Amino acid sequence: MTEPRPFAFADAFGPEKVIEITDPRSFLRAALVVDNTAAGPAIGGCRMARDVSVAECARLARAMTLKNAAAGLPHGGAKSVIFADPRQPRPDKERLIRAFARAIAQIEDYVPGPDMGTDETAMAWIRDETGRAVGLPATLGGIPLDEIGATGRGLAAAARAASEATGMPIEGARVAIQGYGAVGRWAARFLRDMGAVIVAVSDSRACVSDAGGLDIEKLEAVKAHGQALGEAEAARIAPRDTIFGTECEILIPAARPDAINRDNVDRVRARLVLEGANIPATAAAEAALHDRGVIVVPDFIANAGGVICAAMERAGRSRSEAEARIEEMVHANTYTVLDRARAHATTPRAAARALAEERVREAMSYRR
Ligand code: NAD
Repeated sequence: MTEPRPFAFADAFGPEKVIEITDPRSFLRAALVVDNTAAGPAIGGCRMARDVSVAECARLARAMTLKNAAAGLPHGGAKSVIFADPRQPRPDKERLIRAFARAIAQIEDYVPGPDMGTDETAMAWIRDETGRAVGLPATLGGIPLDEIGATGRGLAAAARAASEATGMPIEGARVAIQGYGAVGRWAARFLRDMGAVIVAVSDSRACVSDAGGLDIEKLEAVKAHGQALGEAEAARIAPRDTIFGTECEILIPAARPDAINRDNVDRVRARLVLEGANIPATAAAEAALHDRGVIVVPDFIANAGGVICAAMERAGRSRSEAEARIEEMVHANTYTVLDRARAHATTPRAAARALAEERVREAMSYRR
């Protein structure tokens, strides 16, 4: 096996620290990458999975630096990974997470948050050991981001900003949403309340559609009973990936990475794509959409509701203050990014990345 080159991940922004942690007594194997803390303490998820790597951790930590900066938050980026099965018995999981927390207790510029394989209870254990974490239970001052629809609220704000930037009205706009979970369901509800018509939604099994508009309350009831969307009353039930060919003005991929790719990009009919999931389109698909005049608001601008919520929780703010800030910031950032993309004849993603890098560089310029 070839050894990774020393400082393999280093560039002008970071990472500041790459730490591998082992503790034979608790069978802990973990890694922490603190990418950049110029803007403030780094917030980033703690992921528990068997198949992660330090390289992936570094890539996700950089994504958090850019996401927090793009959202205009006084936080840097980091990520941690615990190499373990997240579905192990709870006492074993607690032991492992507590051991991880004690191992990173001294890295005070890292504030862990929930990610794949960890939840608010895990964050409560980490805070108990270290005094810090976000994504906490409400009794510990947490703001439950999925319950308040933080990311869906942000997506609706992004739609409003894109409407103002392009002149495409939201009232009457047809919306298709891939993924009907915490993100997709709230996006549907907020957009419907703004006058848009939700014409199609999909989950891991099926796509349901109705050109006259789906009844969101009925879909909610189906999901609340743990049923699949295909069991809902709808005009049409089709294989899940037909969602991408829906005649609509707004398409929201809110399920999986690389969902829009070379196999289906030509079928996309929307004028506006709001990226609810992380990296839901391949780079080539995004480029193809841009070439066709489709506006794509990139993930780290459109789905920033969650990180804004975490920052507000960390600052001790209330749920209503967090909601107001999500709307204000995602709206402002989407508008700025679309405006800059037009002015510089570039993609919204390139404009967003430049904006984020500019903010990180400025924060770095104030350091000793
Ligand atoms: P979730 O688990 O609550 O919901 C996911 C939904 O996607 C489910 O309805 C599932 O059935 C559906 N799904 C899975 N595979 C699918 C497929 N191939 N086609 C169609 N639907 C499919 O997850 P979530 O919290 O809504 O997150 C969705 C995505 O957004 C994830 O990639 C997540 O990383 C990202 N994200 C979430 C947040 C947040 O606040 N929860 C913030 C930013 C980004």
